[in-house]
Amino acid sequence: MSLWDWGQTLLALLFPERCPFCDAISVGGGPCESCASLDHEESCARDLPEPGNVPCFSPFRYDGEIREAILRFKFRGRRDYASWFGGKIAKELLRRDLSRNAVLTPVPISAGRMRERGYNQSLLLARAAARVLEIPCVELLEKVSENQTQHLLSLEERRKNVRHVYRVKNGKAMQKEIILLDDIVTTGYTLAECAATLREAGLHVRCCAALASAADRDGQAGQEDEKRGKL
Ligand SMILES: [Zn+2]
Repeated sequence: MSLWDWGQTLLALLFPERCPFCDAISVGGGPCESCASLDHEESCARDLPEPGNVPCFSPFRYDGEIREAILRFKFRGRRDYASWFGGKIAKELLRRDLSRNAVLTPVPISAGRMRERGYNQSLLLARAAARVLEIPCVELLEKVSENQTQHLLSLEERRKNVRHVYRVKNGKAMQKEIILLDDIVTTGYTLAECAATLREAGLHVRCCAALASAADRDGQAGQEDEKRGKL
């Protein structure tokens, strides 16, 4: 056994993967036996608004127990859910035959948010999905200015609020098509703006994927949760 393998074994013993619903130790990650019924996939496809004009696919509705688990993943430091969640996104893309020869890239967060949270949840999802799909995960975008938190804004303000806050930081010569990935899609303006930014730099965006899609297209559920996450 190599030193790295020993390290991984030690980590697994110290921090075993846990069920994303009830927190019981779950060998291999994902839901434990008693929570298996909560693993309720509800595939969703929708078109994102201007300026993205790109479809977005999700394996879950942003609802119920899944929503609670995503909130813990995003706001409560439960980054250990990433491999299970990322696997779900990978499965969704595979099912639709969308991942072939593509590159995954996450929606970035600002430097300030990164300091506060310690991780970019969308990057963790992208890495986990890319591992399953055996395609590259590359951070192509960065967030260059700190905009207002979306939940404080009206729909129209939200659309304007994300304009020009992203920039392509590398991969300008990328030939492969890109799948843009985020955790939750609510209004879709963030993903649409990221897709437009990539295209303006001459890159090709195949589609977007999000772990969960908020059923309410005005983003009401997402707004409430963003507020809760801030508490
Ligand atoms: Zn459980």
